[in-house]
Amino acid sequence: MALSRRQFIQIGAAGAGGAAVASGLATRWWGLDRSRTPDPGTEGEQVVASYCELCFWGCGVLAHVRGGKVTKVTGNPAHPLSRGMLCPRGAGATGLLYDPDRLKTPLIRVNKRGDDEFQEASWDNALNKVAEGLERVKAKHGPEALALFTHGSGGVWFKHFMKAWGSPNVGAPSYAQCRGPREAAFTLTYGTPLGSPEPIDLAHARCITLIGSHLGENMHNTQVQELADAIGNGAQLVVVDPRFSVAASKARYWLPIKPGTDIALLLAWMNVIVEEKLFDAEYLARYATGLDELKAHVADKTPEWAWPITGVKPDLIRASARLIGGSRPASLIHPGRHTVWYGDDTQRERAMAILAALVGSWGRRGGYVVHTKYPVPAYPVELPHPAKAPGQADKPKAGGYPLATEVLASGLCDATRPGQSLYDLKGWIVYGCNLMQAMPKRSEVIEAIQHLEHLVVVDVLPAEIAGFADVVLPEATYLEREDDLSAPAYQRPFAAMRQRAVEPMYDSKPGWWIAKELAGKVGLGQHFPWKDAREYVAKRLELKGLKYEEVARTGVVLGPVVPTCEEEGAPVGVATESGKIELYSKELKGLGFDPLPAYYPQEEGPAGSFRLLSGRAPLHTFGRTVNNRLLAEPYPENEVWLNADAARSLPGFEVKPLANGEKVVLVNQDGARSTPVRVKLTQRIRGDCVYLVHGWGQTAKRQGYAYRRGASDAQLTTRYKVDPIMGGTGMNVNFVRVERAGEVA
Ligand code: SF4
Repeated sequence: MALSRRQFIQIGAAGAGGAAVASGLATRWWGLDRSRTPDPGTEGEQVVASYCELCFWGCGVLAHVRGGKVTKVTGNPAHPLSRGMLCPRGAGATGLLYDPDRLKTPLIRVNKRGDDEFQEASWDNALNKVAEGLERVKAKHGPEALALFTHGSGGVWFKHFMKAWGSPNVGAPSYAQCRGPREAAFTLTYGTPLGSPEPIDLAHARCITLIGSHLGENMHNTQVQELADAIGNGAQLVVVDPRFSVAASKARYWLPIKPGTDIALLLAWMNVIVEEKLFDAEYLARYATGLDELKAHVADKTPEWAWPITGVKPDLIRASARLIGGSRPASLIHPGRHTVWYGDDTQRERAMAILAALVGSWGRRGGYVVHTKYPVPAYPVELPHPAKAPGQADKPKAGGYPLATEVLASGLCDATRPGQSLYDLKGWIVYGCNLMQAMPKRSEVIEAIQHLEHLVVVDVLPAEIAGFADVVLPEATYLEREDDLSAPAYQRPFAAMRQRAVEPMYDSKPGWWIAKELAGKVGLGQHFPWKDAREYVAKRLELKGLKYEEVARTGVVLGPVVPTCEEEGAPVGVATESGKIELYSKELKGLGFDPLPAYYPQEEGPAGSFRLLSGRAPLHTFGRTVNNRLLAEPYPENEVWLNADAARSLPGFEVKPLANGEKVVLVNQDGARSTPVRVKLTQRIRGDCVYLVHGWGQTAKRQGYAYRRGASDAQLTTRYKVDPIMGGTGMNVNFVRVERAGEVA
């Protein structure tokens, strides 16, 4: 049965209990001037077009405002990423705006770092304190001793601050703790990283292969809409996941793989596709190099070889390979997003990129397509030329991670612990990212923090990292501020505007204001010549020949329709040095790595333990939304998924077996203990792993709702395995045993 888009999203939000899923479709009044436009459908409301910040996807929203309050947020039909719909988190934005636990005023630490004790301060006093702290660091250690950790669109103002300040140490956990390996792998294979949104054409795919990627639970709005369209149009899914995810429930083939063995499966799929000549020979002859080496490499990697490794039966491997190969070229191997699993992640992503090439899907409809940026000139501003750039501090002293293309946030943490890098970092600005949940091995992050001479946190909510700050600066939510344009490369080029729907509550301030004021206090004000973010954006648009007010009506300006694939006239673009898709990588070989992906067994856990896996829920974006009371109604806390049969044979539970919903504590191989969490006993997960939705188990007391609700996978991630190619931190290498809550270990 074909699924409608709405049905699919509702399934993705299973348990949402009627939350404002797929909200929007505000077409009644479409076509009106809506910079601040009365909405005839909702008596006296006005609507303001902006873009969402409940995750990084950047969907276009319409904020409905009445009497100075935002009453609801709906999807902007004019915006290519939302297309009139929002995911549940986006629709729940007022839960963030009106969160009673928001940071309300600047705070200055009064006790030991990490004690989470602060006194309220005026903006002037707080910024003076930050300026003094940063100037002290600069005077003693140089400007490069300051690092910025950033996540979210407001980070652009602080990145500009860092350029003016003279430090190259700007990192985001979204690289080395998330998508980095796939960027390295696709750059090696095709000469270009994928970026965000991923340049994939889900809507026209005939077969979609998801490897550990649970779209529908991982709610990237546009992709979920397109996935629903594709399924509605008859596309088939192949889902590889130790857990029977929502996507698996829609799949033609679900492969419940043993965690850590994906490369073996990918090699076996390639073996079948090569042996049965299901690859696109003409395409490969034209665009690729290394097919002979690949054929030889996979010749003995039969499904029978892969079976004992992966736990997936040969028939299932063959049948799914035939579907993948037989659907070419509209056979999409989804590259995934959170790709840091086992430390061999660039090689796994390489195997996925190679498989995509075998079926000829790079540059083709239903595969990987061309995304184009809407070009808007930069604001004309001069920046100082750093006297002598010392290079980034994020790599180990001895060198390493030759193919890292962005700064490693984990590397910046390491460089703050003395002697780990070429030079030590002494000051941090942390903008919008809770490093306690984002980074592996919390003890190392805390150790790094204790070596800092100054730490300033800018955020909307008092996340765990704020408790360690010297100064906390409260930022206004995205509904209360302007920001820079959002113009990522996409199928249809566009630029979207963020507009303030209501005035900032409490004593919070927009990020642009904080960065500009701080720059003024450290003598860098001349590098922030704009009056405000609105003037900044207006200037950029003016240079493009556009008027701010005109773009403000719909909140988005669209570029011309451009061809996105070979079928539409776009050339198959490959930007490697050889000009060919590199199935066999001479670059990797030259660096001492396997030129073709090879399977190496992963370490097993102690007897009686389960591999800890984590993922996403449609109602939440990591820890950023767990305190949102609106989103808590349909999804109040995470639970640990545990195979029901495995639970029955747990040692120590023979007399009184675990009951579904009972609270347990997870204890990892190093003795780290989780907060109590409800257990979900299910057949929907393999018996050798457990699963937690990421972001819960918060230890920040000031987050009144989220404090100690559910369990944190980050707290249990005391081990990680670094990808030697690009420095990503593989985190699925931890094992836990299960204790009844209240039991003493
Ligand atoms: Fe907002 Fe959801 Fe879009 Fe993310 S996917 S930007 S949370 S509506």
